[in-house]
Amino acid sequence: MRKTALDPAAPLVFDTAELRGAGTTMHVALEIPAPEAYGLESVYAVPKGAVLDLDIHLTGVSEGVLASGGVEAVAEGECARCLAPVQDALSVQVQELYAYEGSVTEATTEADEIMRLEGDLLDLEPAVRDALVLAMPVTPLCRPDCPGMCAECGVPWDELPDDHVHETVDPRWAGLEKLRLADNDGESK
Ligand SMILES: [Zn+2]
Ligand SMILES: [Zn+2]
Repeated sequence: MRKTALDPAAPLVFDTAELRGAGTTMHVALEIPAPEAYGLESVYAVPKGAVLDLDIHLTGVSEGVLASGGVEAVAEGECARCLAPVQDALSVQVQELYAYEGSVTEATTEADEIMRLEGDLLDLEPAVRDALVLAMPVTPLCRPDCPGMCAECGVPWDELPDDHVHETVDPRWAGLEKLRLADNDGESK
């Protein structure tokens, strides 16, 4: 008996036995919870348990099974400039060939170029995860022109008046200020 590393009960693992050699298509239209977080958790990610909306066709071809279609999910994180919460609806395309064991494709490609079927089990998760992570912004923003926050007090500029400034004491005057305070101390004794 063949040992498989894939769990047939995992939400993104599909049994494609009926597609073998038939040139038939299986339509996967499912909403499932993300089995793990995709992205950088608390920075920007599709959180674990968030809904993955799959609309994917699995088609039997001579060398394996072709998975193609779309995935939608909501990513959450924080704005890189002002730290406000950010939510984006991601919509990505998946297009991936899964080679049959013993196929020419399997023999002539590396596992990191072309995905593999394990027996008849096809694991969509890596393709779904990669497509979603690739669609994530390098710098998540609450809006494209977010002004960020004041470097002095860390308050978002959106919440500050236009004329917001911090009084900065000239270091030379700061020195005099210390002397003056020291004098006062002397007098008070
Ligand atoms: Zn922002
Ligand atoms: Zn400030």
